[in-house]
Amino acid sequence: MANSARWNSQTRASHGSEANPRLVLASSSLRSRVILATELHPKRRAECRLEHVSYHADYTIPLPEGHAFPMGKYTALYEILVAESLVGAWNLHEPKECSWETLALAHDEAYLAKLRDGTLTRDEQRRIGMEWSPQLVRRARLAVQGTIDAARAALSNRGRIAANLAGGTHHAMRDTGEGYCTLNDVAVAARWLQREGLVRRVLVVDLDVHHGNGTASIFAGDPSVFTFSMHGERNFPLKKPPSSLDVPLEDGLEDDAYIATLAQHLPIAVARANADVVFYLAGVDVAKGDRFGRLALTERGIAARDSMVLELLWKRGGLPTCMLLSGGYALGEDGKTSSERTAERHAIAHRVAAQLRNA
Ligand SMILES: [Zn+2]
Repeated sequence: MANSARWNSQTRASHGSEANPRLVLASSSLRSRVILATELHPKRRAECRLEHVSYHADYTIPLPEGHAFPMGKYTALYEILVAESLVGAWNLHEPKECSWETLALAHDEAYLAKLRDGTLTRDEQRRIGMEWSPQLVRRARLAVQGTIDAARAALSNRGRIAANLAGGTHHAMRDTGEGYCTLNDVAVAARWLQREGLVRRVLVVDLDVHHGNGTASIFAGDPSVFTFSMHGERNFPLKKPPSSLDVPLEDGLEDDAYIATLAQHLPIAVARANADVVFYLAGVDVAKGDRFGRLALTERGIAARDSMVLELLWKRGGLPTCMLLSGGYALGEDGKTSSERTAERHAIAHRVAAQLRNA
């Protein structure tokens, strides 16, 4: 797809080398670090409101040198949260690969067969923005299951927040991937929760800077899933199928105007959705200087956004909330890679979530 191709070529020059030896840490060494961090901070562990964190080392796969996607952000974020004792053995959960049967709740069998058999066309791979490989498919299936596991945990621990350190891949449609999104984890998870009888109504709060076109199209005409997308009007994707509530934003929007707009629309979305569970796509490509973002939020603005969302859901009787990464494409600066700086921005929402207090 032309948009994806442009997305890639726009950033290739600024990306540079993303090689990061920290990405290849073995699981066992990560696990021992987690336990160590837990032992060091028992008080913080008890106070941490992040009840469940899904993470798998295989969320990260090798990409060709110079690829625009900051693949190292998953590991980098995980390491930040471990170092701050927001993730430890008590809340860390490693997902398995989501079954093909479960994936079929939101995706066409024909598309899944292409993923399984490695028969995506060149155009279909270009539209995803990543080449097919068994690792790519495994990564996508792990991330979907990570979201399902987190959502289930959110439902069983009312008042606490669950997160997946991946997911929010909202451009994936029923029958195709797009814009670095292979599978739509939120769509599969929502359908799975409904099928299991765990929820009837679902709210998707999508604050990634890009429109949630895949999610909107999958749930079009389905009143049981309320999709709320606040996004750059002139940004990717070109075609934006209607969400239940779309709030398009002008280029260059700064903190105050963004927060005022969110304060105006979010309560309406929450009220209209009347949901049993909420998926929060906390994309950080709203940040000033993001390579694909076009908005101008500071890190304080991102924290204010995340606080507003999580506190509002908290005040609604602790609505079960599953938090997902979505996009973020910070420039590498000050000796840090794009992945490391993007992960620092993703860490903001997790700090806010962990510190929510009874108001
Ligand atoms: Zn995005």
